[in-house]
Amino acid sequence: METILLNRVHLENSRSISVYTANEGYDALKKALSMSPSGVIDEVKRANLRGRGGAGFPAAMKWGFAAADPKRPKYLLCNADEGEPGTCKDRQIMEGDPHELIEGMIIAGYAFGAEYGYIYLRAEYPRLEGILEQAISEAEGKGFLGKNICSSGFNFTIRVHRGAGAYICGEETALIESLEGKRGQSRIKPPFPVNVGAFGLPTVINNVETLANVPHIILKGGAWFAGIGPAKCPGTRIISLSGHVNRPGYYELPMGVTFREVIYEHGGGIRGGKELKAFIPGGASSPCLTPKHLSVNMDYESLAEAGSMLGSSALMVMDQDTCMVRVAERLMRFFVHESCGKCTPCREGTDWLLSILERIEAGEGKQEDIELLRDICDNIAGKTFCPLGEGALGPVRGTLKYFEEEYREHIRIKGCPMKI
Ligand code: SF4
Repeated sequence: METILLNRVHLENSRSISVYTANEGYDALKKALSMSPSGVIDEVKRANLRGRGGAGFPAAMKWGFAAADPKRPKYLLCNADEGEPGTCKDRQIMEGDPHELIEGMIIAGYAFGAEYGYIYLRAEYPRLEGILEQAISEAEGKGFLGKNICSSGFNFTIRVHRGAGAYICGEETALIESLEGKRGQSRIKPPFPVNVGAFGLPTVINNVETLANVPHIILKGGAWFAGIGPAKCPGTRIISLSGHVNRPGYYELPMGVTFREVIYEHGGGIRGGKELKAFIPGGASSPCLTPKHLSVNMDYESLAEAGSMLGSSALMVMDQDTCMVRVAERLMRFFVHESCGKCTPCREGTDWLLSILERIEAGEGKQEDIELLRDICDNIAGKTFCPLGEGALGPVRGTLKYFEEEYREHIRIKGCPMKI
């Protein structure tokens, strides 16, 4: 299958507006401006475009809620803060085809009546700031951004806002707080950002990959898009494939592709001819799966059924020599570092989980530690202020579910069996 989102990134000077416009760029914007804003929302609804940030919320529904709110001005925030370990999918779009994102933002802004757009860019992507700003300035120069876009009477501006390096700011309300110049911490919901968002005004937050799909949907129609992949979540997905595979990298594949196809066909199988031990399907917070799950489809519903989640589609592959306690410990270290500290179950609980994992890995664990880990997880689940706390449990719960015996072996032999 041909790619949709990455079909221009390999062209020479793919970032320039001249290459973009020579390859259908901004045709979708012109078409959208000839439609009514509600007509644009209807087309995206027909496509059944679901958010690519992790939650999978239907994009058209979000736009519809914001469009129905009479308060002005309205804001569109592009979440470009992909900080989940192993994730590098949005980067490919912004680096290789920034106008695809910008065109998607302008169309989305037109659809629900936004005047201002911000790209909230993760701090660790400093080079992308200049690339995006250059693209914005090119689009302004051609009359695709700014006042009276393409003589339609529609005004829309985009600015890039660099984060300061906090994973929590990928959560939408923490992102808003940070954009407003405050400490990046989550807000209580409701009210939801579509009604009370940035600066207290209606705000839509969409992920980079979600918005980059929009020009293609407008140009080729919602029905075309809805026909790709599973009906419940059509389209493609950019998969960041890492770990012990022969060909790590990013792959744009139809939603619903099996893990077997991604790991063995596109990734070239396990490095050094070794056996697959486990894989993390959708970023650090998604519980790991095992070789018996290779036939599971990469879509929201299939992964939920398998006991994990699609998340950011960062697929991390581990071979037979990987210590699963060490995997859980390393990932927990990340969550402890990134916990914003606002609520006790996450702030204290993740720290306790890390301490126990560290002592098991160091050969100082006790058999009761297994139940203690489970108990702490149960006391964090459902009791945190934002999804980060719950997400931190994925590595522990997943590895305990499938590799409890490996934990017990660490405790029995007072060390890591993979090192012997
Ligand atoms: Fe902060 Fe963690 Fe609580 Fe979220 S769950 S508000 S990251 S302490």
